[in-house]
Amino acid sequence: MTNHSDHARLDPFTEPAVITGIRAGVRDICARFPEAYWRELDAQRQYPVAFVQAMTEAGWLAALIPTRYGGLGHGISEAAVILEEVNRQGGNAGPAHAQMYIMGTLLKYGSPEQQACYLPAIADGRLRLQAFGVTEPEAGTDTTRITTTAVRDGDRYLINGEKMYISRVQHSDLMLLLARTSPRHDAKPTAGLSVFLVDLRQAGNAIASRPLRMLMNNETNAVTIRDLSVPLENLIGVEGEGFRQILDGWNAERILIAAECVGDGRWFVDRAAAYATGRVVFGRPIGANQGVQFPIAAAYARVEAADLVRRRAAASFDAGLPCGPDANMAKYLAAEASWEAANACLDTFGGNGFNAAYDVERKFRETRLYRVAPVSNNLVLAYIGHRVLGMPRSY
Ligand SMILES: Cc1cc2nc3c(=O)[nH]c(=O)nc-3n(C[C@H](O)[C@H](O)[C@H](O)COP(=O)(O)OP(=O)(O)OC[C@H]3O[C@@H](n4cnc5c(N)ncnc54)[C@H](O)[C@@H]3O)c2cc1C
Repeated sequence: MTNHSDHARLDPFTEPAVITGIRAGVRDICARFPEAYWRELDAQRQYPVAFVQAMTEAGWLAALIPTRYGGLGHGISEAAVILEEVNRQGGNAGPAHAQMYIMGTLLKYGSPEQQACYLPAIADGRLRLQAFGVTEPEAGTDTTRITTTAVRDGDRYLINGEKMYISRVQHSDLMLLLARTSPRHDAKPTAGLSVFLVDLRQAGNAIASRPLRMLMNNETNAVTIRDLSVPLENLIGVEGEGFRQILDGWNAERILIAAECVGDGRWFVDRAAAYATGRVVFGRPIGANQGVQFPIAAAYARVEAADLVRRRAAASFDAGLPCGPDANMAKYLAAEASWEAANACLDTFGGNGFNAAYDVERKFRETRLYRVAPVSNNLVLAYIGHRVLGMPRSY
């Protein structure tokens, strides 16, 4: 017979104290921003300025920045839990997550001078790195087809192009931007792309952002760039190798998205189970009906399974081991599981599920994004089919 403490000791998935401490710290902040806060912002399509500020002041958004630059020096395992907790408490990590998604490119490819210049200011909140400019209207998921160009002009680059669905531009000081520095060649389409750290505060009229109304509250823009002059020292890494530099950050991004989905999934399951237990129709709780109970139980099982793959991917990432297959599977499984949980929750709430006052419809819209962006689940399956299982390339 094992008692509870034996179980905890034997359980290989027991969370270390640092993780439980992170959960508690993030929950404390989330308690100051209850669901009514998010509901109100959603209705007005407003950015959660106060929440992002509080997360920044507590240091959570600098989780991945090394301690020597004033960050928390955490790995992806810890950073993922921060985003998971925000979503699990009924909030939305989306307005603040980019700083973590794109940090890898700056940490791995930024020069010592760039890191010393930007990281301390990002860590203490003087600079916000929340914008990431990759997608374009015509290129779609085929990133090698982007047509934004950066042309070398002495000690500067002149950038021109159109970007689409670029989030948080109005609430960021810096944008990591992907542009073509030499024309695309079919023989090696990924060559000739470069990454720039654009200081949006100095862009003036060269960058025009047109806000788009999206399904959920997400500050997202169509961005036009006209003769944007960027100094040479804002090129990240090596000219022409930007695709690989961005690609290198994708495993981290997939693990972090998976964590956000797990947080959403747990919120939906908790809400649905509680509602199904308390709501009495035909003289008994609706959760006594298998048609209501089983979809919630199935969603719970899928969310927990996705979480295990997410944790394995994060552990490999932090250990410097290859984690592409796990990171992609985690993203796929978690996005599907949270969507399934969202539907089970909406069905359980019946008409109330459609009423904004219950927050279910808001979270339903928020979690739907992750099947499509920042990478669609189809492309994740294409990666697994081709790169992991060795089937013919489908794209
Ligand atoms: C709210 C929101 C915020 C966003 N924020 C940002 C941001 O900050 N920065 C940024 O750069 N981008 C951002 N995006 C863009 C996002 O990354 C893209 O929308 C996403 O990667 C999908 O690309 P697409 O829209 O061009 O779809 P497309 O590439 O046009 O694809 C359309 C559909 O076809 C499918 N498809 C395409 N090719 C294949 C294939 N070979 N096999 C199978 N299926 C295929 C896709 O899965 C998708 O479902 C955001 C998008 C949204 C909705």
